[in-house]
Amino acid sequence: MREGSLEAPTRLPLDWENPDFYDEAKLDAEMRRIFDICHGCRRCFNLCDSFPRLFDLVDESANGELDTVDSKDFKKVVDACTLCDMCFLTKCPYVPPHEFNLDFPHLLLRYRAVEAKKNGVGAADRALTETDRNGKWATLISGAVNWATRRGSPMRGLEEKVAGIDPNAELPKYASQTLEARAKANPPARDEAAPAKARKVALYATCYGDYNDTSIGVAALAVLAKNGVETKVVYPGCCGMPKLEQGLLDEVADGARKVAAALAPYIDEGYDIVAPVPSCALMLKFEWPLILPNDASVKRLADATFDLSEYVVDIAKKEGLAEGMAPVEGGVAFHMSCHSRAQNFGQKGAELLRLIPQADVAVVERCSGHGGAWGYKKGNFETAMKVGKPAMRQLDTAGKKHVVSECPLAGIHIEQGIETLAGDKPKPERVSHPIVLMARAYGVASE
Ligand code: SF4
Ligand code: SF4
Repeated sequence: MREGSLEAPTRLPLDWENPDFYDEAKLDAEMRRIFDICHGCRRCFNLCDSFPRLFDLVDESANGELDTVDSKDFKKVVDACTLCDMCFLTKCPYVPPHEFNLDFPHLLLRYRAVEAKKNGVGAADRALTETDRNGKWATLISGAVNWATRRGSPMRGLEEKVAGIDPNAELPKYASQTLEARAKANPPARDEAAPAKARKVALYATCYGDYNDTSIGVAALAVLAKNGVETKVVYPGCCGMPKLEQGLLDEVADGARKVAAALAPYIDEGYDIVAPVPSCALMLKFEWPLILPNDASVKRLADATFDLSEYVVDIAKKEGLAEGMAPVEGGVAFHMSCHSRAQNFGQKGAELLRLIPQADVAVVERCSGHGGAWGYKKGNFETAMKVGKPAMRQLDTAGKKHVVSECPLAGIHIEQGIETLAGDKPKPERVSHPIVLMARAYGVASE
């Protein structure tokens, strides 16, 4: 729920195909209009590092007002934004339908789109956006890649120099076999003992779920099969969130059209599309229709897509879950990720965990600070740790045996933060997603 407004926020389509969108003078005028409202409001002062940077620029300017801030300094504000959407969704009373029509994250996204069109994206940032290309080769040589990218590896100096990756940032590992290959080798079989459901699920693997951490997809397939749901793994390509972060809107649109076309036959056959990573669910459900508002297949895909936690909780509410779960001992500290919150469906991950018998769940709803690949970058990692510290501290002091976020990258970042905060004290075990604990409760997990 947002502060100070009773109306639900309405996000307007991104006008990126209009030449005015890339007009620098018009962009500057719009930034000054919005930044001036923010300067007078300041509700978002502690959400991230973008707002403190903006308010410092104003406070340290010649007359303490925005008109004496140099436009070239706006980049500092833009650079600190992780597109978490929390200012738009949880704080701002001036978002549409309010007449101020204020969408801070999309304003900063426009700035990045203008920069990308004018100057291109640097080679290192560009390489990080190519998640499918990277994932395909990295899974083939995952042992070597994981060795080279672990903290303390002698290769991290080179990665810092060439790719601008902070040597202290914990990076995601690669799997030796993709989720698609695992599912092909071991096709998910519906539990014959469970009453057959009318539901069929096409699990949209996501780049992270396909190439990096397959335990989430494996657990999802096992839980759905246990509950009588027919499942398939599908993965026509990345949702494009890393490209969105770089302002590459035309490439995000191309990816959206391609994935929507590939998933259309599944929707025709009655499959629900389920995405296990909240950022990817957010892209399919909300961002793609704002980028391609007149594309019928993108709209149809958005309507057919569910976040994984949302979907399992929906089964529980409408049809009930299969029996047979045992308690998971030790309790869970659950981090509600920003892109779960941005889907505006309540605390679905916590609801899922509370379906496990005797669940002891502590919920923390604060940004982890990681911001995807943004948080690995040199110059951002320290900020990412600083922004995430309150969430990390609360998750640590909850004193549970497990810590979990629906956002797997937030989970890795939180684990690293807790490691630093907790020192020699015992630390909670990081679990990749709440569904993994549910699979353990059913005794069907094979991680
Ligand atoms: S989207 Fe998130 S990171 Fe960006 S300005 Fe808003 S709160 Fe800050
Ligand atoms: S984004 Fe909205 S709530 Fe946040 S500082 Fe600006 S005007 Fe205030």
